Amino acid sequence: MAPKCKVCFESFSQGEKAPLSLQCGHSTCRQCILKILDDIGEIKCATCRIVTDETDVDRLPVNYDLLDTEPDDLQPVARRPARISILVKDLTGKQFRVELDPNATVMQIKRSLFNQYGLSVDNIALMLHGQRLQEDTSIRDNGIMEGDIIEMTTRYEGGRVARH
Ligand SMILES: [Zn+2]
Ligand SMILES: [Zn+2]
Repeated sequence: MAPKCKVCFESFSQGEKAPLSLQCGHSTCRQCILKILDDIGEIKCATCRIVTDETDVDRLPVNYDLLDTEPDDLQPVARRPARISILVKDLTGKQFRVELDPNATVMQIKRSLFNQYGLSVDNIALMLHGQRLQEDTSIRDNGIMEGDIIEMTTRYEGGRVARH
């Protein structure tokens, strides 16, 4: 349950209901402090009666700890970018799962394969639907989706097999 102002018994929130810190250590919402100031000409704590030596409400710091709760109307938006799970299939058909941020680059996919599975990635290229994935492009750039299977192939320079 969200912390409430002890004067008006409403939940703290941003704006008019922001919990402002008083010099006594208590916090009261901005709206109530403005009302107290208006009524008695000073900011007297409604809990302990100590007067805060300030008459400019905007100079009282917001007590962010009292705001650090899930607001009731929080939109279901992920705060961190969701990680996506990708399967990488090697030349023998063995599959390796890596989980990465959609902004991670193809190079980072290769690094994860090395870090997690010890795969040698120096001479491999990653392919999706027959297209070589450039190392400096991201998962998002390539439209790689959760559950896509990326194939590992041997890399050859310039996209052609050297002929003799
Ligand atoms: Zn209040
Ligand atoms: Zn107080």
